This record gives sequence, C-alpha cells and structure tokens, in this order.
Amino acid sequence: MPWKGEKNPYYIWLSEIILQQTRVEQGLPYFLRFKKKYPIIKHLANAKEDEVMKLWQGLGYYSRARNLHETAKNINQNFKGKFPNTFDELKKLKGVGDYTAAAIASFAFGENKAVVDGNVIRVLARVFGIETAFDTTESKKRFAQLAQELIDKKKPATYNQAIMDFGGVVCSPKNPKCDECPFNKICVAKNHELIEQLPYREKRTKITNRYCNYLLIKSDKEILIQKRTGNDIWKNLYELPMIETTKPLKKGFAEAVAKYLSTKQFSIESHSKEIAQMLSHRKIHFRFIEVELKDFKSFSLQGAQKVKLKSLAKFAFPKTLHLYLEQKSLF
Ligand code: SF4
Repeated sequence: MPWKGEKNPYYIWLSEIILQQTRVEQGLPYFLRFKKKYPIIKHLANAKEDEVMKLWQGLGYYSRARNLHETAKNINQNFKGKFPNTFDELKKLKGVGDYTAAAIASFAFGENKAVVDGNVIRVLARVFGIETAFDTTESKKRFAQLAQELIDKKKPATYNQAIMDFGGVVCSPKNPKCDECPFNKICVAKNHELIEQLPYREKRTKITNRYCNYLLIKSDKEILIQKRTGNDIWKNLYELPMIETTKPLKKGFAEAVAKYLSTKQFSIESHSKEIAQMLSHRKIHFRFIEVELKDFKSFSLQGAQKVKLKSLAKFAFPKTLHLYLEQKSLF
C-alpha cells in the first residue's frame, strides 16, 4: 500500500479520508488518481468542485469529497499550504476526526498520539476482555485512554501502524489467527471463548427506506439533469429529475409524473423494476421511468438543466445512476 511509511501529511490525510468507510482494494485506485492529479494540496485547493466530485465518483459517502476540497482550500489559504502539525490543531479541520488527526499527527509529525480505529478496538476488546459496548461515547473514551496508555512513546508511528495491521491481519473480525498470535496465552477473548462476542456493539441503527423514482427525459441531443443541493446524500452530485416517495411507487406512475412535471404532455415509455442499495443506515430504492415529452424543446423544469448528451460524461452521478446511464449507452 503506497501510504505505508508515508511522512507527507497531505498524502496521509488523503489516504485516510479515502479509506474511511471504504475497503483498501476499492480506495487504492482513487488514492493514486487523486495523488496524480493533485500532487500538492494547492492543486486540490484550486480545483473546481465538479472536477473533484467527478474524480470521487463511485466511492460513495460524498460528504468526504466536499470536506476534502474545503479543507484543502482552508489549508492553502490560511496555513500557507502547510498542514497544522499537532493533533489538537488537526482536529479543527473539517472532516478530520480523532482517528484521522491521530494518524496524521503520529505518522507525519511523530506526535505521541494513539489511533483508535475498528481494528484497534477489536484487538483491545479481545485481549483485555472489554465487554462494554464500544459504540457509546463513554466506552469510546475508555478505548482511547487504554490505547494511549499502551502506545510506545518512542515510536508512536510504528506502534500505531503495527496495532492496526495486527487487527487487520491476525486478529481479524472472522477467523482470527489465534494459534499464531503472540497474545494467545493472555488474551481474555481467546481463553474465555468470547471471540465471536467481542467487540460488543450496543447501538443498532434503524434502517430508513427512501424511494427515488428517476425520470429519464431526453431528446436526440439533450437530456434533463439536476444538481443535488441541501444537506442530504449525494449533495453536489448530479442526478436525473427525481420524484421521492415515502412508499414504493407501484402504480400511478403517470399521475405522479404529471404532478411533478406540471404537464400531461408526455407518455411513459417504460419503467424499470426497483433496485435497492444500502447506504450505511439508509436503504435506497431506485426506479427509472422513461418519459417521452411531446415538446422537449420548449419544456423546462425548475432546478433542472438541459445538457448535451455528448457532454454528459463530464458530470458526476451517484454510482447506480451512472450505471443506469451507461446501460442506456448515454456515455
Ligand atoms: S488470541 Fe486470537 S482473539 Fe486474542 S488477540 Fe490473538 S488473534 Fe485476537
């Protein structure tokens, strides 16, 4: 992994933001692409937001990309392009939480600050037999305190990297390699058959369902798209005009579309089956409806814009929409 042993705070930060909620195999090509396109933070700060979102497309959790861009601008303008060099200062940056601040502070600046990520929590919960839930504010503090007590003060970066790797490779969530583990004599989880139960999770996040019915409205040369605004998923990405419903739209497509478009001058050519996608605690149900307008040329829809089909590829779309448009050979 190219960020291993990295000392440049910009690259550490970039890799950490990309790897939040993302597997290494998925995040790696994005890290390389960002590094190539924006080799120094100034380049990222000066990039257009649409361009950054386009490069992020497919990675999900798009607030990370917006925060990345905003923080790059902040560092470029207010810190002369240089990262703050302490945990406390790093934590003030947008999108930088305890974990990322500790990673940058220890890896780039050698600060004695323990990282606490999922791997670290798993190792500590199992070795010490911590049976309190790790996802409460109080126990998060307890894990952070314990991690800080254990850190090798002379080599904080090596220690942090080692415990994270240990959690990833040896003390893995499923089938940890206990026989080869140097802690197997003292590990509470191993010796009390608690491996499956630890770390213990308390909060079960309630899943909410959202039903997004996308309208494919186009002529031979142009298509209607809109930019998502407001503080919601996919903010600042583009999408097709969309009718969001609280329940699945099983019938009555024409009525719903007529109400949304404020016209009856159209026909519905087809509608897809529902496709569901999980996004952390949200289940998004996509449906695509192909609408043929009688007069596309003179039609307008508030908040939407007509763009040339040949320039559609320049816009960043959420993954499922991108795949749909690809299927329709619109890229
Ligand atoms: S003995 Fe097993 S459960 Fe305990 S720390 Fe080692 S790998 Fe993890």
